[in-house]
Amino acid sequence: MVTTLPGADELAALARETAKRCGVDVDALGTGVTTTSPVNGERLAAVRWVDAGAVDDAVARAREAFLAWRRVPAPVRGALVKRFGRLLTEHKEDLATLISLEVGKITSEALGEVQEMIDICDYALGLSRQLYGRTIGSERPGHRLMETWHPLGVVGVISAFNFPAAVWSWNTAIALVCGDPVIWKPSELAPLTALACAAILDRAAAEEGAPENLSQVLIGGPEVGEALVDHPGIALVSATGSTRMGRAVGPRVAARFGRSLLELGGNNAAVVCPSADLDLTVRGIVFSAAGTAGQRCTTMRRVIAHTDIVGELVRRLADAYGRLPIGNPLTAGTLVGPLIGERAYEAMRGALDAAVAQGGTLVAGGGRRFEDQAPGAYYAEPALVRMPEQTEIVTQETFAPILYVMPYESLEEAIALNNAVPQGLSSSIFTRDQAEAELFVSPEGSDCGIVNVNIGTSGAEIGGAFGGEKETGGGRESGSDAWRGYMRRATNTINYSGELPLAQGVEFTV
Ligand code: NAD
Repeated sequence: MVTTLPGADELAALARETAKRCGVDVDALGTGVTTTSPVNGERLAAVRWVDAGAVDDAVARAREAFLAWRRVPAPVRGALVKRFGRLLTEHKEDLATLISLEVGKITSEALGEVQEMIDICDYALGLSRQLYGRTIGSERPGHRLMETWHPLGVVGVISAFNFPAAVWSWNTAIALVCGDPVIWKPSELAPLTALACAAILDRAAAEEGAPENLSQVLIGGPEVGEALVDHPGIALVSATGSTRMGRAVGPRVAARFGRSLLELGGNNAAVVCPSADLDLTVRGIVFSAAGTAGQRCTTMRRVIAHTDIVGELVRRLADAYGRLPIGNPLTAGTLVGPLIGERAYEAMRGALDAAVAQGGTLVAGGGRRFEDQAPGAYYAEPALVRMPEQTEIVTQETFAPILYVMPYESLEEAIALNNAVPQGLSSSIFTRDQAEAELFVSPEGSDCGIVNVNIGTSGAEIGGAFGGEKETGGGRESGSDAWRGYMRRATNTINYSGELPLAQGVEFTV
C-alpha cells in the first residue's frame, strides 16, 4: 500500500476546525503542553494543563451539582443523556476524526468508538427508568424489607489513551442517570478529544437546564489523577489504564475507604480446537490481534492451538498478516494505523527480542514502516510469533500488535494455559464441538471476565458488563448491573404491624 502521510499543518488545521465544530474554545488552544499526532509524529496542538491544585475546587463545584442533581428524578436525568446521545450522533464524524488524529485509530474503529458512546446513552436512558431494588420477605409479621438505591456522590474518571472518549462516556452516561456528577482526568495524549466530548455534554446540559458542573474535565498529568484518587470528596474512582497505574490507585482509594472501579491490562487468548472453522477463526483472530494496532485492552495476544491444526493455522495467519494494509488511519482501506509513539514501538521490539531469546520464531511482521517519511511516527507491522511454550514474555501485556501462537494437546491443558497469566480480561474458544465450548465457559473453564465462543476477544457490546479478574482489576463497567457501582444501597425495614417484634426472636421489653 502506497501511503503519503499528511503534513503537520494539515493535521493541526484539521484538529482545530474539528474541535471548534464540537464547541471547543479553540482560541484558548495554542499555548501549554504540546501533543503529537501518531499519524505523522508531528506537533498537533498545545493545550493548557491544570495542576493537582485544581482538584479541590473541581470537587467543591461537583459537590454542589450533586446536591441539586440527586433531587432530580432519574427519568428526568435520563433526558440529559438522551440529548447528549443526539448531539454525539450529530458530531459522530468530528469526534472520530479527533480520535484518529490524537491516538491513530483507523476511521472505521474511531467511528465505532463514537457509536459505542451513542449506544451507552441509549442504554442509560432506558436504565433511568429501571434503577430498581428488591423487596425481600421479612421474618416478622406486618413488616416489609426492601432495598433502595440512591445517588452515590462525585465520580472521578481516569482514562487511558486507547479509548480516549468511549470509556469516559460509559462511566458518565451511567453516573449521570444514577445522579452522580463526574470529574474526568483524560489521557494526557488525547486532550482535544476530551475537550470536544466535554463541550458536547456541556451543550446538552445547558439545553436541558441541568445544574452546572455535572461534568468537568481536568487536562493534566498523572499527578492530577493522584489528587482525584486521594480526595475524600470523590465517592468512586473509576480508573482505566495499565496494571501499574491500578496498583498505585487501588490501595490509595481503599486507604480512605473510597470505592474504586479498576479496568486494567489484559493478556487475552484464543483456544483453537481441531474442529474449529478455520476461515472464521482466522478472521476473528486477525481483527482481535492486529486491529487497533494491537492497542486494545482486549487485543488478542495469545493463541493456544491444538497440535493437529497449529501448523495450518499459522500458515493462514501469516498469509493474512502479509496482506494487512498498514498506513494513514484516515485513509479508507487502511486496517492498521500507527502505534501511539516511540515507547510503544521500543516495547514491541524488546518483547520480540525476548520472545526469540526464549525459543520463539518470528513468522511474520515485526518491522517498521514509513520511518524515512515520518521519523516521529511508529507504524509497526503486526507480528506473528510461534512459541514452543508459554514463556515469561508471553505472560506480560506488551501494548503492541504481537500475537504468540502456542500448541496444546488436551483441552484441559489449553484452559490451564489460558488461565496461567496474571491478567484476566478476555478470552475465546474457536470450536464446533459443543462440549468443548461449554467446558470453556463453565466454572472449570476460562477465568476471565469475558469468555467468548467462535468470536475474538475484542469488540464487546455495551449491553454486557465489561471488565476482568485478577490484575485486570475486578471492575465492571457499562451494561448489565454495572450501574450498581455508581449508587449506594440502603436496606429499609418497614413496620406496619403496630407491634414491635424483634428479629431473631430477641425479647427486650422494659
Ligand atoms: P496508563 O496507565 O499509562 O495511563 C492511564 C491513565 O492513568 C492516564 O490518564 C494517566 O495520566 C493516569 N495515571 C497514571 N498514573 C497514575 C497514578 N499513579 N494515579 C492516578 N492516575 C494515573 O495507561 P495508557 O498507556 O494510557 O493505556 C494503556 C493501558 O490501559 C493498557 O494496559 C490497557 O490494557 C489498559 N486499558 C484497560 C482497559 C480496560 O477496560 N480494562 C481499557 C483501556 C485500556
